[in-house]
Amino acid sequence: MSTLHFKSTRSDAEKLTFSEAVVKGIASDGGLFVPTAIPKIDFLDESLSALSYQELAKTILGKFATDFSPEELENCVYSAYNEKFRDARIAPIHTCGTASFIELYHGKTLAFKDMALSILPHFMKTSAIKLGTKEDIVILAATSGDTGKAALEGFSDVDGIEIVVFYPTDGVSDVQKRQMITQEGDNTHVFGINGNFDDAQNGVKVIFTDEKYKADLKKKGYILSSANSINIGRLVPQIVYYVYSYYALVNDERLKMGDEINVVVPTGNFGNILAAYYAKQMGLPVKNFICASNTNNVLTDFFNTGKYDLERRFVPTVSPSMDIMISSNLERFLYAISGSSDTTITSLMNDLKEKGVYEISDEMKDNMKNFFGGYADDVTTIDAIRELYQTFNYTVDTHTAVAYQVYSDYVKKTGDNTQTLIASTASPFKFPRSVLEGLGEDVSSFNDFELVELLSKKAELVIPNPIKNIDKRPILHSGICDKSELHQVVLDVLK
Ligand SMILES: *Cc1c(COP(=O)(O)O)cnc(C)c1O
Repeated sequence: MSTLHFKSTRSDAEKLTFSEAVVKGIASDGGLFVPTAIPKIDFLDESLSALSYQELAKTILGKFATDFSPEELENCVYSAYNEKFRDARIAPIHTCGTASFIELYHGKTLAFKDMALSILPHFMKTSAIKLGTKEDIVILAATSGDTGKAALEGFSDVDGIEIVVFYPTDGVSDVQKRQMITQEGDNTHVFGINGNFDDAQNGVKVIFTDEKYKADLKKKGYILSSANSINIGRLVPQIVYYVYSYYALVNDERLKMGDEINVVVPTGNFGNILAAYYAKQMGLPVKNFICASNTNNVLTDFFNTGKYDLERRFVPTVSPSMDIMISSNLERFLYAISGSSDTTITSLMNDLKEKGVYEISDEMKDNMKNFFGGYADDVTTIDAIRELYQTFNYTVDTHTAVAYQVYSDYVKKTGDNTQTLIASTASPFKFPRSVLEGLGEDVSSFNDFELVELLSKKAELVIPNPIKNIDKRPILHSGICDKSELHQVVLDVLK
């Protein structure tokens, strides 16, 4: 098979293999790595529809990681998607009428970030060996909640990698904090930072751009890397579950092979919906994409007007993982709809940086006609949880509820009754307060750990092991620091 290469969205300067792009993370010019061509698969090939999640993953990932041997790929896939997932199907679907939810939250941290962060560490380790990297890799991450825990779980006890996560002491939920400070694994390190998420994020960014510090680390035998969603090694694994779910619908006889579907994704950084778009480029028959936002609806406006405008107020919502102003992965989508024009992307990204706004051309708008943007505020989000529970006896989390609400609006407006896949991105147990509110319970007098028990009874769902009795587990990481101390803290844990 010929080698697939990866280049920056902003220039032609680099051409990298998959391994090189995974270890490097972000291009030198600040752009994101994209494949020079999207590989195709023959979707109508019946034998694909019979594959297990792991076997299908091998087929699809192999089209991108062309410099991995079949054995290396197999090893990565089976190290990631195994009994760590509570459902043998890895990503089961649950159908309510024309809406089929892809449950992406059966991994260790109960959120869809597990789908990619279970395999990224194995990609990284394999790539580093392949490239002859002598240093150990240090993953640094600032987290507002979900990413940090999923990265800790994914990288825990992976040889040759250390992971250091910083969370804001006043910024994460009780359950999220507990999940992190009880993390096991000799190579995991977790610290609270006095301040908010921006303080944590800025502190980490300063380290990433400190060339002298990085040179010192290298002398000690370490290189830095990142696990956030701009890494191409996080994006590609997300294509798999859209393809797998399509075949699951065919096998359930809800679709005939070749029928078109719609896809709805509750969106933050635009990684998950971009993976669905790549699946279509590979050949998956998708008619329309519905990009669902919460009150932070910069993307809704973008799809309606072609203008991306940061001039707006940031609003904390009940779907915090989507509280995002700059959707980094949109850059890869812009690149695709511009006909792979790196000069266009450079100029749009400059506008965003300098003016806080950019507007795309009419041609680019034409190329995104099958994307619909919509949003749901907190009230309609909670209503959607109630409606799904009352109509279908199905309990979803707040992020998935945003998607369902936007989907319902879309169907009302367009009358489009195409069978639809909705990405279900978190377990309801991660957000018990809002979910129970949707189920009509008075939650005011309980703490989050009590609410987990209550939700289990009310929704008749078993409490997933990863958060069972989490308030009684030993605290393994109690360090707190100021953001000015990050450099030293990282040195100390590496010793
Ligand atoms: C990260 C996250 C999202 C947003 O996904 P993107 O790929 O950033 O668009 C949605 N829901 C949940 C629960 C998440 O953790």
